[in-house]
Amino acid sequence: MQTGDGLLVRLRITGGIIPARLARDLTDAARRFGNGLFDLSARSNLQMRGLTEGSLPALTDRLRALGLLDDDPAAESVRNVLASPLAGRDPTALLDIRPVIHALERGLVEDAALHALPGKFGFLVDDAGLPSLAGVSADVRFEAFRTSDGVAFAVQAGGDARSARPVTTCRPEEVTDVARALALAFLAYRNNGPSPARRMAALADRLGAQALAAAAGLTWRDPFRQSDRPLPVTPLGSWTSGKLPVFGVGAPFGRWRAEDLADLADIAERDGLGELRLTPFRAILLPGVSPDVAARLTRELADGFIVSADDPRLAVAACPGAPACANGTTPTHEDALALAEVARGLSPSGVTVHVSGCAKGCARQEKTAVTLVGRDGRYDLVLSGTAADAPTRTGLGRAEMQAVLRGLANDRQGIPA
Ligand code: SF4
Repeated sequence: MQTGDGLLVRLRITGGIIPARLARDLTDAARRFGNGLFDLSARSNLQMRGLTEGSLPALTDRLRALGLLDDDPAAESVRNVLASPLAGRDPTALLDIRPVIHALERGLVEDAALHALPGKFGFLVDDAGLPSLAGVSADVRFEAFRTSDGVAFAVQAGGDARSARPVTTCRPEEVTDVARALALAFLAYRNNGPSPARRMAALADRLGAQALAAAAGLTWRDPFRQSDRPLPVTPLGSWTSGKLPVFGVGAPFGRWRAEDLADLADIAERDGLGELRLTPFRAILLPGVSPDVAARLTRELADGFIVSADDPRLAVAACPGAPACANGTTPTHEDALALAEVARGLSPSGVTVHVSGCAKGCARQEKTAVTLVGRDGRYDLVLSGTAADAPTRTGLGRAEMQAVLRGLANDRQGIPA
């Protein structure tokens, strides 16, 4: 994809599992063929930035040699499977879902009919371990639960664990067939309405869960499972899952430098299990890093990385903006960093300020207390809305934005929901 700083190449790495050696290969490729920067997306994909038409063929060869290249773009696109970040390592998980993920990806790629799915149509497989994917949306989700007869998956359509509609249950070995059946039903029925259903949530709303199950040739079942698993607010810093110690590291706005990944690869090999695990939470997990080592790393890494849920940079969401995106006219990352402290003053947790390069709002579609939308080098202010909503003030510079946020923080009644 063409962006403001060159071509962007998406790397869809199965299970988000990156052995330390692969991380070093990727950092080397990013330095040689790109501009040395990566983004970690909300779908756990690594995106290499700053490629050129000239450097792309050599990168393609390199990715093929690393086994990261699909046969064609349609196969890569349909292989949109998000998995529990600690798959196969987490002692609290109900099963090792790595074979399930591999089989599902293979089944999606091999069925050419599924290549017609919309590019963002995605699947999710949750092993019921930590960190939970309950808050992450997907078109078709499989969540492991225990039955008297072993482990099964609750199958849901369109949304996160609370909003998605229960469709059926299945055994681990049935996941691929059930996923294909629901995806084919989506393709068959998405145009039966006043307007095409763009994603599974819209079709599930239109048909209802029972009719959707029938359309897919499945028996409707609702296992009445409660989403009562402990949800860490964020998997950053040092934490444990059962007996597995984990160290979670975030980068401001999900932007990583090649040397960051190389450093994490060294840490993973020296102090952990030799793997980096990508998450949809803009964090990379290093399983096996003990709390003692994590405490030292926290001190060493705190400036460049986000290693604590208290980090004020977590109060601000920002898209790449200018110059990385051709649509941007403002340096969103720099502006967001300058606003982080005062943004945290609005509320002790969550994202309070969204700095968007334009009205497209790529970094965040949800309403935010304060949204600042770049336009002609300055910002428009939207309160309690999205980047696409009408602004209440226009043409703000950085000092004016800080003053607005301070005013809202001082007048707590004035903080929009
Ligand atoms: S919101 Fe606008 S400026 Fe920001 S990344 Fe998206 S298109 Fe680019």
